[in-house]
Amino acid sequence: MLDKVLIANRGEIALRILRACKELGIRTVAVHSKADRELMHVRLADEAVCIGPASSAQSYLNIPALISAAEVTDSSAIHPGYGFLSENADFAEQVERSGFTFIGPRAETIRLMGDKVSAIESMKKAGVPTVPGSDGPLGDDEGEIVATARRIGYPVIIKAAAGGGGRGMRVVHTEAHLISAVTVTRTEAHSAFGDGTVYMEKFLEKPRHVEVQVLADGQGNAIHLYDRDCSLQRRHQKVLEEAPAPGLDPEARARVLEACREACITIGYRGAGTFEFLYEDGQFFFIEMNTRVQVEHPVTEMVTGVDIVREQLRIASGLPLSIRQEDVELTGHAFECRINAEDARTFMPSPGKVTLYHPPGGLGVRMDSHVYTGYTVPPHYDSLIGKLITWGVDRETALTRMRNALDELLVEGIKTNTDLHKDLVRDGYFQQGGVNIHYLEKKLGL
Ligand code: ADP
Repeated sequence: MLDKVLIANRGEIALRILRACKELGIRTVAVHSKADRELMHVRLADEAVCIGPASSAQSYLNIPALISAAEVTDSSAIHPGYGFLSENADFAEQVERSGFTFIGPRAETIRLMGDKVSAIESMKKAGVPTVPGSDGPLGDDEGEIVATARRIGYPVIIKAAAGGGGRGMRVVHTEAHLISAVTVTRTEAHSAFGDGTVYMEKFLEKPRHVEVQVLADGQGNAIHLYDRDCSLQRRHQKVLEEAPAPGLDPEARARVLEACREACITIGYRGAGTFEFLYEDGQFFFIEMNTRVQVEHPVTEMVTGVDIVREQLRIASGLPLSIRQEDVELTGHAFECRINAEDARTFMPSPGKVTLYHPPGGLGVRMDSHVYTGYTVPPHYDSLIGKLITWGVDRETALTRMRNALDELLVEGIKTNTDLHKDLVRDGYFQQGGVNIHYLEKKLGL
């Protein structure tokens, strides 16, 4: 087992990783910016190192500072969490070159999946269903671009190969707008991501966002942990998630779960990962793979009983998976509400001092949060202050528990989006299950 892990992240996920390390008897090193001295995991870690000023660029994204911190603390491995450097292949490479274990896939896998064109190509080869689209990147020949769009059928979407965070995409409804859309997306992609490569996909009008959690040990063993539905999104940011995804076509679902598991073996995947799909009319279409632990991983943990971060740490220690596919059992249903420090109506961030924090409790209620009464939410980072997760024997029970838990949650001194969640868990369409990715924005009148 790894001896000492440096946690290259902050907030709730840093605390989540620290808890998993403690359970396994692994010593922990917290790294933090000057603005983050008061973080809960900094207090609880065996050692803490300040790596720079408040700005992420100079702290949590500062590769030399992170590697020096690992050196001075004699850490054996680095866990990147999510966001920040978690999907940065150069970071993974430098970590390993400096003699530390990167808790994640190999750098070349991160690179392969970071380029959406190569990710889609490798998934097609591995038998995972993808969105009808251009074969590879779009070239310069306008006639060919027009022909490709005609073959796919309008509407189409032009996407940057290096895109992320919902940026670098443009929907085209008619041929008259096609070439200008390709040109603009190319230019934007070039300035935003330093790579002007673009490709084309069929634009699906009413899809759901369904994703598949996988674990692979890089030693030939891989399992899937079933699916999650993350269709409630605002500006491509997930707001509320659930597991399993309700009402999927059973045969298509069984096929895609097995295809993901097999794809992990084909590409030699190592660690935790997520295959993201759009799901429409009973069909799955792969859009991208995330090569890290995800914010919404707890809903999967609640319905499978598998501790995903613990498995990441075991895999990074060189151990084989502790569970086989046939031992993974789905039990009940789980929801997760992302609690953000922001206005529930305007979504304006609301940093500041938390004067009262009271998390909900009871059977089937889990609150993953680094917040405590007296903690000041700094203005420099993501506004996520906690994740409220509920489990129940069925969807209705889990949802009832979520309604009650949201009523119990008290956060005073700053604004939170709790009222938005209270509204969502009482929404008639959401209660039925299976709303599409545009539902939340439509409901909000955006
Ligand atoms: P990013 O890496 O920026 O998150 P994705 O490829 O995951 O980019 O796409 C983000 C979101 O954009 C999807 O969740 C979906 O809402 C929308 N989207 C992407 N591709 C399509 C498509 N072919 N049809 C419809 N919507 C799409």
